Amino acid sequence: MTAVKVHGRIDILRLPVNQEERIFPPWHIKYTKSHILHSKCSKSENGCNEKDEPCQFCIFSHTLELPHMPDMVFPNNILTLHHEDGATLQFNALDALKTVSNGKIHIQLACAEAWKESRSESSEFLEEKIKPFDWTFTTSYTGTISDFKIEETSERIDMDKLKRKDKILFYNDLTLFEDELHDNGIAVCSVKIRVMPNGFFILLRYFLRIDNVLIRINDTRIYHEFGQDYLLREYTTREAKVAELRDIASFFTEPSEIAPYLPLTGCQYHKLIMLSNKVASGINAELSNETVTDSKAVTTSINETDNSVT
Ligand SMILES: [Zn+2]
Repeated sequence: MTAVKVHGRIDILRLPVNQEERIFPPWHIKYTKSHILHSKCSKSENGCNEKDEPCQFCIFSHTLELPHMPDMVFPNNILTLHHEDGATLQFNALDALKTVSNGKIHIQLACAEAWKESRSESSEFLEEKIKPFDWTFTTSYTGTISDFKIEETSERIDMDKLKRKDKILFYNDLTLFEDELHDNGIAVCSVKIRVMPNGFFILLRYFLRIDNVLIRINDTRIYHEFGQDYLLREYTTREAKVAELRDIASFFTEPSEIAPYLPLTGCQYHKLIMLSNKVASGINAELSNETVTDSKAVTTSINETDNSVT
């Protein structure tokens, strides 16, 4: 990686990238972890030109076209799981941010109204926040996959099995992006993986807390039992206004503690069936960033079994 000194400050491009690779046959699991995204182009005052290989900042800003990026974006925090027959599952910040609404304003206007009620004084902030852009960076990202066939399923992840104290062979926790909403809360997207003797479990979580206004959690859980030819993927959205939570929200700081108190607003259950390279060639050659749209989300009752604790 090339590096440029930036006005004598610490050059973050020279900071090392941590990485670890582990093999749990037939799975190859790898993560990389490193510094946050630069706040400007690291190659040129005017941004990278088309001929050069663009820097990470230019890749993010050109791909996303968001009015501004979250405070902290971790472009090198990437978790990849690769099956020896070809199926690949990856979690990265760029794809996570691709699902942030840009120009679609219905969700964030509702938020902005709630915001206006609670903070009439911060009008400057509000001005910025009611632009047609989801300033909460709410993402419906469920991971980036290739060489899987996706089917709806009635099979559920066995959460009781996951709560057993099985030996953990591998664990990691990566932040993809984080924003402090100008000190008025937090939006954070992170992914955790643990590998146990019988399989692996991944929790990709987007957590939003707008102080005194709203809490929202979008979770993607993926479970694979070694030996099976599929993964189970569950996507849930939960949300509540802080006023509706009464005192509950103030007792907890951890998203996992708050989640059980948030009403379920949507859920989808899928089976990701692994295709081998022979079968899949030409079908899903590219990593596809599958987008979950609101319209596809099946709204279910609050009585749905709560899976959020793990
Ligand atoms: Zn650049």
